[in-house]
Amino acid sequence: MIFDFESEYLYKLQEDIKANGFETIRFASYRTGAKLRFVQKKTHLNNVDIWNFVEALKEACLSGNDHDALISSSELLQLFTSLYQSMNKRLPPSQHVRVNNAATTLVHWLLAVYKSRPGKSLRLFSVKVALATMAAGKIMDKLRYLFSLLCDSNGKMLPDRFHNFLEDILAIPSVMCESPTFSFKEELLDQVFSDPKEVTITVFIDLIMSDPIPDCLVWLPLLHRISTAENVIHDVPCSSCPRESYIGFRYNCQRCPDFNQCQDCFWLGRVSQNHSTDHEMKEIVDEHKKSMDLEKNLVGTIQSNLIANAPLLEEKVLNKKGRGTSDEIIE
Ligand SMILES: [Zn+2]
Ligand SMILES: [Zn+2]
Repeated sequence: MIFDFESEYLYKLQEDIKANGFETIRFASYRTGAKLRFVQKKTHLNNVDIWNFVEALKEACLSGNDHDALISSSELLQLFTSLYQSMNKRLPPSQHVRVNNAATTLVHWLLAVYKSRPGKSLRLFSVKVALATMAAGKIMDKLRYLFSLLCDSNGKMLPDRFHNFLEDILAIPSVMCESPTFSFKEELLDQVFSDPKEVTITVFIDLIMSDPIPDCLVWLPLLHRISTAENVIHDVPCSSCPRESYIGFRYNCQRCPDFNQCQDCFWLGRVSQNHSTDHEMKEIVDEHKKSMDLEKNLVGTIQSNLIANAPLLEEKVLNKKGRGTSDEIIE
């Protein structure tokens, strides 16, 4: 295992990730999504809606669109302190977090993502991209906000900003040791949009919600689906383990009749009966809702576009590096 991480904070985070077993997930996109969901909870951003973040920026007079603006670590700490203070006000006392700890953790994480050091400034644009990506909320709201960072006054995408956006957003999976599959490369720019100048908000949203979504961003809607699936109970027995019902995704084999797997069994590549890991699997989220959450409205839109194809998309990502044994897939 090669560590991208230099700081003690990131080393500890990676240890936590290993202890939670995320590194054993066979598929890079699910593995990335699961790790980012873990970070989301660890930084408490699962309780911060994108609009809470936008509001905090406004209060701190940081919502301007100066692309070159910098923000120092101490200003970041101040911004996140007010973000978490507001979050505590919305949450029941039992869920209150220690504001200073949460704000410091988030600053450390951002410094790590953008390979900066305490005391150095970050580009405010990068901070906005990272927070909009990792905050809770509807994916459509996030995409609208992200596009507002990328466009000119006529609503057309600025190619330079798109370049920075792709670099900044891909730094997120990259720092989670997923750089072999998800990291910025110049050639991705043309693959995502051949003519960024002509890209409007509709084209931008269509792309992220499309089927197939560009491989380099497949983890982004997946992060949302994972959080939605945490609130879903499947009353269908898993064909590979003794579970009669389970939370998370359910996977239905498109070749074996009545063959269903729970999330753990599919992610770990368990096989049983005549089923093989080569079989096409359909990802299913939408069954009984355990409870409501911030992202409850997300599932319908994405499901129709992406769910049936997510494992196939994943295959495509893996195929670029050559299909191999599951050990090769794990990195
Ligand atoms: Zn199972
Ligand atoms: Zn099968």
